Parts: sequence; structure tokens; C-alpha cells
Amino acid sequence: MEAAALKAQAVAQVDRLADLLVEASHRIHAHPELGYEEHFAHELLTALLEDQGVAVTRHAYGLDTAFEAIAGEDGPVIAVCSEYDALPGVGHACGHNIIATAGVGAGLAAAAVAAQAGGRVAIIGTPAEEGGGGKVRMADRGAFDGVAAAMMIHPANADLPEMRTLAIQQLWVDYHGEAAHAAAFPHKGRNALDAAVLGYVNVAALRQHIRPDERVHGIFTEAGDQANIVPDRTAARWYVRSPDLAGLELLKPRVLRCLEAGAAAAGCEMTADWRQPVYADLVTNGPLLDLYRQNSAAVGRELAGGAGAPEVVGSTDMGNISHLVPSIHPMIQVSPPDVSIHSHEFARWAAAPEGDRAVLDGAKAMAMTVVDLWARPGALAGVRAAHEAARTAPER
Ligand SMILES: [Zn+2]
Ligand SMILES: [Zn+2]
Repeated sequence: MEAAALKAQAVAQVDRLADLLVEASHRIHAHPELGYEEHFAHELLTALLEDQGVAVTRHAYGLDTAFEAIAGEDGPVIAVCSEYDALPGVGHACGHNIIATAGVGAGLAAAAVAAQAGGRVAIIGTPAEEGGGGKVRMADRGAFDGVAAAMMIHPANADLPEMRTLAIQQLWVDYHGEAAHAAAFPHKGRNALDAAVLGYVNVAALRQHIRPDERVHGIFTEAGDQANIVPDRTAARWYVRSPDLAGLELLKPRVLRCLEAGAAAAGCEMTADWRQPVYADLVTNGPLLDLYRQNSAAVGRELAGGAGAPEVVGSTDMGNISHLVPSIHPMIQVSPPDVSIHSHEFARWAAAPEGDRAVLDGAKAMAMTVVDLWARPGALAGVRAAHEAARTAPER
């Protein structure tokens, strides 16, 4: 059957599932769960897949809240990723309820035509994108072995071809000083809050002299217990980001020295823990994006691009996957352009009618892209060739 006819069938399948997908999106949104604790979303999505006749592996790859569902008998495996973790304090302010249900919807729509198209689709439930690196752990355990291409969509304030991604590593720091009465014996104390604050200020000074496309930002997670006790223990968490892994390796020691200098000035000990996994930058596969771009336009969403187009800067564990298999991570509009992801306001848009439309449009555009890879002559070969070319290109 022609790709166009198969795509029409896939789109019709998303329309049939529309109420189920939107309801699932709302239920996940109303029940935000942090990374690796997404038990409600895991149960809801796997049950939805099973109800639609797709075999599911729950708790896939040794992770409690990961899943995998594969449909189709043979032919190339195309992966659609589904994320469903939320953020502390602001809930689904990254709109992963939309990623979850658009991914499952795309997978089910592709599954409906997989046999006719001669392909397989893997719907991969990937926990803990917000720092936990679920995709990296799953990839290490083989989840993306044999996958020919992978895709997901991410909610945003515009329809965009990609996120401007930065490689990132987290740095968790503990400070140890000496407690004392802050009025009676201040000279006996070594102030671990001073150590943390001086390090913070050092990083602020460093920012003038890092690349304009790098980002360093931190919070204090412990800052003392009571004002009349010199704090003897404090802790901070830092995110260090650079456009690629090579840049990150140059930036990391500079940040670390800023923090160590703060500890030295305050006479405190500091322990630093560079957290795993590192998130790599994301390499968008050009031919795969071109397919998605056409399919996104077909559902009424022209991707913005060129000078003056808005951009979203961030990091994602999909970056690591993009170095393994040809990948795309386009952004889909959910909110007006002036709204930031990770804000309370964005969380409201993620369950608004605009968010619901993104679930269905995203599912359709991805399902059609999967069908293109299966059924359009030469499409997958072009995607593979671009991936190989990017792998062998010299480091930036
Ligand atoms: Zn986020
Ligand atoms: Zn996100």
C-alpha cells in the first residue's frame, strides 16, 4: 500500500483514540510524579496499550517505571519515546503528560498499520528525564539496540524543529564546617553557609567569562538550621551546561575551582560529586526532521525556523540516544510564545485545550513519520546515511 494511504489510516486511528489519549494526558497531569516514581503513569499507560491489544513489558530493563511495547512482525524498528515524569513544586510544568500520550498515541496509530507497511514500532516508556537519565540507563541495557530511528515531541511555546540542547552534568556539593553559638563563640565556628555563598558568588563572577551559550546555575539544598548556630553543614546542587561534551569537560574544572575557593575562604571542607549520567547534546537527524516537518505541516503546524525564530534552550537524555540512533526531538506549541517551560503558567497550559491539541497533532505527525520511514522508498536509507555522516564528522 502507498505511504499516503497508510498515513491516512494512522491519522484516523489517532482520531479514534482521541478521547482516551486526552483523558490519559489529564490524569497524568493531575497526578504529577517525580523521576523513577512514576508508578501511576506507568500503570495507566501500560494498561492503555494492553487494552488496545499491544503486548507490553512492564518494569522494562530493570527499571520500575519503564516500559516497552513492540508492534509489528518484522521490518525496521522505529522507536517513539514517551516521558511522564514531573518536577518538584511545579508539577507538569514541562508538559511530559503530553509527551507521554502523544508518544503512546503515535505508537498505537503506527501499530495499526505496521503489518501492512512491513515495519515494527517500539513504544518506549522512559522514566526520569528531569535529571535521572532514564533513557541513558535503558540504552545501556539494550533498549535502543536494533532501533533504526527514534523520535519524540516536547511541548513548548512554539512549533520548532528542535530544542537547542546543551550537554549537562550535575554537581552535588557538601560543605562541612564547625558549629558554634553565633553570638557567644562565633570565633569558634567555621561557617559552612559562608563557604556555599562565597562559591555561589564566585560562579556569578565566572559567568562573564564563559561562552555565551554555556549555562551554570545552582541552588542551596541545605543552608543551616537556626540563625544562632553557625551552620556546620550545607549543601548545593549545580547544573553545568555547555553546547557539547568537549566544552563541558573544559567548563567543569572552572566551576569546581569557584566552589573550592569559597570553601577554602571559609575554612571548610568540601566534597564534590559529579553525578551520572552525563546528558549529551542532541544531534537532530536532518532527513528525519524533514519528514516530520512535512507531517507537522499536514496537521497545520508549520515549524518555525531561520533568523528571528524563537528557541528553547535546555538539555535532554534524548541527546544521548541521538548519538546512538538517528533521532529527532521537535517542539510542539502548547502555550503562547512568552510563557517559559518549568513555570506554573506552563503547567496550566499543559492540560488546557491547546495541550490536548498538541497530544493529538503530535501523535499524528509522529505516526505519519514512522510510516514514511517504513513505506517511503529510500527514506530510511537517507536517514541512516545522515546519521553515519554526523558520526564521522570531526568534533566541533
Ligand atoms: Zn523539563
Ligand atoms: Zn521536558
